Amino acid sequence: MEVEAATLAALVPSWNSVLLLVSYLGYLAFAALVLPGKVVPGAVLTDGSRLRYPCNGLLALFLLLALIVTGAYMEWMSITVIADKGLELLSSTFIFSLFVSLVLYVAGSSSRSQSSSLRPHVTGNFIHDWWFGVQLNPQFMGVDLKFFLIRAGMMAWLLINLSVLAKSYLAGTVNISVILYQIFCAVYVIDYFYYEEFMTSTWDIIAERLGFMLVFGDLVFVPFTFSIQGWWLLKNEVELPKVAAAASFLVFVIGYQVFREANKQKYVFKKNPKADIWGKPPKVIGGKLLASGYWGISRHCNYLGDLILALSFSLPCGASSVIPYFYPIYLFILLIWRERRDEARCSQKYKEVWVEYCKLVPWRIFPYVY
Ligand code: NDP
Repeated sequence: MEVEAATLAALVPSWNSVLLLVSYLGYLAFAALVLPGKVVPGAVLTDGSRLRYPCNGLLALFLLLALIVTGAYMEWMSITVIADKGLELLSSTFIFSLFVSLVLYVAGSSSRSQSSSLRPHVTGNFIHDWWFGVQLNPQFMGVDLKFFLIRAGMMAWLLINLSVLAKSYLAGTVNISVILYQIFCAVYVIDYFYYEEFMTSTWDIIAERLGFMLVFGDLVFVPFTFSIQGWWLLKNEVELPKVAAAASFLVFVIGYQVFREANKQKYVFKKNPKADIWGKPPKVIGGKLLASGYWGISRHCNYLGDLILALSFSLPCGASSVIPYFYPIYLFILLIWRERRDEARCSQKYKEVWVEYCKLVPWRIFPYVY
């Protein structure tokens, strides 16, 4: 009972957690506006316009890490502050997401813009419009909010992990499982920022409107649930056999190769449809769809790579509990749903070209299975 009461008390947002959240988002807004970086044009919108995305996330991340380390070294803050205030931060971020999504709903619904990224899609059903959002790419002070929130979520995931790692280190519980989990996630997040420009042609940016679902997903769900393995390893000691550690590493390498290369192939194809794929000119359907490389193996091989990667993040935790497997299970459900929605969108957009692609590449995600 006492533990439950303490947990509930820790869920009440404190001023410190609000300050941490505001400082973090303020820093990211400042970084997005001020730091140098390649400016990448986004996908062509239905009205023929293109948004421009400054891809300076990697620099913003390294600068923030340097600031945190300096702050901890100078004793202005504790290196474990994020892990120590985890529950308070969770509730503060949740309340903030509710607030932001309501503001987006009100501002979006009253917009008179004719641009396709800002024109409101209002169904009149408040819950639906608030949940899924009414505008495709709302901006604030020249910053694309969706791109910004995805960045905030991915970076927060790494920051939480590193703070939990510092806690593990201080508690003397760092072992091979902790090291593997931390390295895998750090590579995934740093890789995300290294290739941040690839994000501009993904579903979230080109097709999903910005409502509570995305705001909550990016700000709360990604950082706080994707880091479950780290928290779990803090409380549960795993004695991972060497062969299991090696197998986890192999799964990670395979997942990374498929995930990264598949996304890269599509991005390169969109920029230059004649660019070689695996050393050969690409097979293109109807001049629009790539059917070579990973995109000739299954229609969403990038999801397959991501799922293998997700599994590798959990394997270092062993098999004694299902809790560390939350992320791959969640991602499996999300990506099956996402693939269905993307399929419907592509079939509507590409019509008979999509039918031809499906005939040539019958597998949706898992070759010979699904
Ligand atoms: P995609 O990057 O696969 O984007 C889908 C779009 O790509 C389609 O709508 C279509 O858009 C275009 N496309 C599809 N097939 C082809 C083809 N054969 N040739 C050319 N263009 C094609 O999807 P996502 O944005 O969902 O995923 C991007 C990455 O992000 C994936 O690796 C995914 O696993 C990952 N992800 C991770 C999540 C997480 O929580 N960890 C959540 C969601 C995604 P167009 O109109 O431009 O042609």
